Amino acid sequence: MQPPSSTKRSAAATLPTLCYLGLGANLHQPLQQLQQAVVALAALEHCQLQSVSSLYGSKPMGPQDQPDYVNAVAALVTTLSAEQLLTQLQKIELEQGRQRKDERWGPRTLDLDILLFGNQSIDSERLTVPHYGMKVREFVLYPLAELAPELHLPDGTRLSQLLAEVALNGLVVLAPPPALDR
Ligand code: ATP
Ligand code: CA
Ligand code: CA
Ligand code: CA
Repeated sequence: MQPPSSTKRSAAATLPTLCYLGLGANLHQPLQQLQQAVVALAALEHCQLQSVSSLYGSKPMGPQDQPDYVNAVAALVTTLSAEQLLTQLQKIELEQGRQRKDERWGPRTLDLDILLFGNQSIDSERLTVPHYGMKVREFVLYPLAELAPELHLPDGTRLSQLLAEVALNGLVVLAPPPALDR
């Protein structure tokens, strides 16, 4: 049965929320994959892309028989819910040729993770926010610090404290932040 029309909700499910996204790629010209992802993020409905970090080169996690990664972090304000945003991010991944394989942390054309969603802690079937790995991943922490050096996590942890604990592990800047059309 259809719900009565008075319960219909618009796509704008929450107040504008500042969130941080992790971008990664290591297949099929990863630098260009990230640049294309930035264009796609800028075009998302109910979202305003605020800023993007430099593009970094990093060593793969897990299986080492795969190319190095290109990573970045983006700041985005959205009125979507976190779950709605994840749906849009997964759509962009698929549009850029992401193939879901069984191997964990295997190579991919594009990976878009929600690192932080405002100051919210989310634990649902599809989403864990803050992203469970962000506190120990150099390719998240250093690009994030470019955008928000004073950031605190929802649990109060200071980003600067995490940076002091996590080594660069070969992380290098490959390219300046992609230009944002406004
Ligand atoms: P990792 O999560 O360790 O970075 P991964 O990015 O390679 O690994 P994926 O295969 O891209 O993992 O995602 C697996 C699932 O993780 C997704 O289907 C999604 O539902 C879930 N997930 C949980 N929390 C998040 C989050 N914060 N951002 C993105 N996906 C998430
Ligand atoms: Ca937009
Ligand atoms: Ca990931
Ligand atoms: Ca992911």
